[in-house]
Order: sequence, then structure tokens, then C-alpha cells
Amino acid sequence: SHRFSTLSVAPPDAILGLTEAFLADSNPDKMNLSVGVYKDASGQTPVLKCVKAAETKLIEEEKTKGYLPIDGYTDYRNHVRNLVFDETIEHDRIAVIQTPGGTGALRVAADFLVTQLTPIRIWIPTPTWANHGNIFAAAHLEAQPYSYLGADRKSLDIDAMLDDLKNKTRVGDAVLLHGCCHNPTGIDPTAAQWKEIAKVVAEKSLIPLLDFAYQGFGAGIAEDAVGLRTVLDAVDEAIVCSSFSKNFGLYSERVGAVSLVASDADACKASLSQLKRIVRTNYSNPPRHGGAIVATVLDDAGLTAMWTEELTEMRERITRLRGDFIDTMKSTGAGHDFEFLRSQNGMFSFSGLTPMQVDELKNKHSIYIVGSGRINVAGMSESKMSQLCEAVASVME
Ligand code: PLP
Repeated sequence: SHRFSTLSVAPPDAILGLTEAFLADSNPDKMNLSVGVYKDASGQTPVLKCVKAAETKLIEEEKTKGYLPIDGYTDYRNHVRNLVFDETIEHDRIAVIQTPGGTGALRVAADFLVTQLTPIRIWIPTPTWANHGNIFAAAHLEAQPYSYLGADRKSLDIDAMLDDLKNKTRVGDAVLLHGCCHNPTGIDPTAAQWKEIAKVVAEKSLIPLLDFAYQGFGAGIAEDAVGLRTVLDAVDEAIVCSSFSKNFGLYSERVGAVSLVASDADACKASLSQLKRIVRTNYSNPPRHGGAIVATVLDDAGLTAMWTEELTEMRERITRLRGDFIDTMKSTGAGHDFEFLRSQNGMFSFSGLTPMQVDELKNKHSIYIVGSGRINVAGMSESKMSQLCEAVASVME
């Protein structure tokens, strides 16, 4: 008998499944506002100019396809450290390793927590990026929910969040915090709320796992690190998972990083050695190209300025589209007030649309958004804004 023939089909990934349905949809006016990918005015996900320039240079100068070290490209690792941390943490307390994307970073971090610090649980916000739960389950890291989104589905319930972190966690547990541009809600803590969160994290000796997949998509590269640095100021030990998929548009190159902060240089060395062991038995060492692109851009003042400009353009386009959506919705009639979206950060807006309304948008209007009501603002376009808003208004009747 065949062993594989007894297997059942795994459920499709919710968001990628929507894209399949979108591709099969023959309506010429269809819109895909589900996946978390930036699109420009022509609907493309462009290669950044700074990336093209770096790639040209790399192709010319590349001398070998030899393996990278287990922890990746040294120059890249130094740049990641400078993007994430300020000068208050000594360099010999920070270990950075290059990983295949932010997802790879999260998996390495989860394996590290489980193998090195058990018994440990990780607390994740409700809601959070759907893959967090899947990654932690795959690593056998127990995940527990803490409150995040308020009952109004429009704001952070900071009291409930702090209450859960204070009263439900055990001393020494891990807590996942979105560094900026919370996915899926776009709702981030204020500077004052970050201070309160940092205080509880320190009091309970929680290990913060800061998921930092959208640095530069909120308010700016340095601005988006403020909350995360408030937490780092309050603790001796932390882990940051970075991704350069979004802010460099390097989705398919799979480039990210795990940065671990330890209490002293010896603890940092030991931690790094364990991270490397985890990598060695998983994917051995990271792909080179994405890390080399990021390092080449950040090594060069001109290319860095170009990157900052292109990133600003992406961020400002999203802010403009979010504003356009709010204004156009208002013009469709009374009661269509989406003003609460204005303070949300990053690529997504949590619209408050119900699963039924989301379904109707898909079935009647070929507009695809995820069941939670999360809309990829970067997928909107100026030319289809009134079509989108009229459809949203019609399902709200
Ligand atoms: N973390 C969050 C919150 C994300 O939204 C994403 C990507 O969508 C990631 C991590 C993973 O990023 P990557 O595509 O680099 O694996």
C-alpha cells in the first residue's frame, strides 16, 4: 500500500487562498486588497531603484558563490544592528544573525526559546499575524493570547493588555510585541503606552520578542524604532526579528534577521552559539543575495539616500490612499465614517467590516479582503477608489 495515499489535503493558507480565488475571477474590475504586498500607482510591486543599482554592482563584483557563514554576511549584520538599536546597548551584548526573511527569523527565535529556556510560553496579541500561531506551534512553543484590540475594534485596549501581561503571565515567559505597524490592525501603542508596556515587561521579567517587519512604514526608519527601544531600555534581555521584505521590497529574496540582546558579552556569545546550532540543523546558512543587497545599499551614502527617499514615497502613498479612502467613504453617505482609520500605521487598515460584509464584497463586487476586515491600503488605487467605496457602502446598507 502507498503511505502517501492515506494523507489528507492540508487546509489552504487563508490569505494565499484568497489570491487563488482572485486570479480565477474573470471580473475585469476585480481588486485584491488581501495580501501584504506594496503596490505602486500602476498596480505593480516594483524593484526599488536603490536595489537595482546595488544588484548591478554586485553582479559585476561578485567573485564566488561560496557558502556564507552560518550567521550570515558580516557587513549586513552590522547594518541591521545600527538600524534596530541605538548606542545605549554595548555591541558585545548584541548578536545578529541573517535569516531567510522575517518568517525564518521568527522560527529561529522560537526554536531558541523552546530549546534553551523551557519551560517557557509566549504571549501573543489578539489578533495577530496568523502565521505567528502556526510558526510557534510548529516549533512546539506554547502560545497564549493577551488582549490587544478593544471591543470597539477601532482602538488598543491598553488596560486589558497590561492586565493580561501583569496577571496571566508567569515570570520569565516570552511576549510577542509588534515593533510598529501592528498586523492586522495598524493600531500601535502611543509613546506613553509603550512606557507602561515596558514597565510590566520588566516587572515580570518577560522576554520581549519584538517582531519588526515594517520598519519605515509607520512614521520613518528611526521613528518606528522608538517603541521597541523603550522596551529595550527597560530590560537586559530581548530578541528582535527584522524583515526587509517590505521596506526594501525584497519579498522573494528572503532576507531578515534575529537580533538577540544578552545581559553581558559572555551570555551573548553562548546565545549566539546556540542560535547558530539551530540554523545549522535547519537550513545550514542563509541565502546571500538579499543580505548583500541591503549591505551594498547601506554601505553607500548615495544609495542609502535613494532608499530613504523610495521608502518615504511608499509610506506617503499609503497615507494618501488611506486619507482618500476615508474622504471618499464620507461622500458616499451619512454613517460611513472611517475617520478612525486615520491614526492607523503601515500597510493595513482594520476596517471593522464583518465577515459577512467581506463575503459580500467578494461575491458581488470581486473585491478581495481578508475575513478579519483587514484591508491592504497599499493595494488600493486612485483610479478605482470610487468603485471600491461604492461597493463598501453598498455592503454596509
Ligand atoms: N511578521 C509580520 C507581522 C508580518 O506581517 C510578516 C509578513 O507579512 C512577517 C513577519 C514575515 O515577513 P517575511 O515575508 O520577511 O518572512
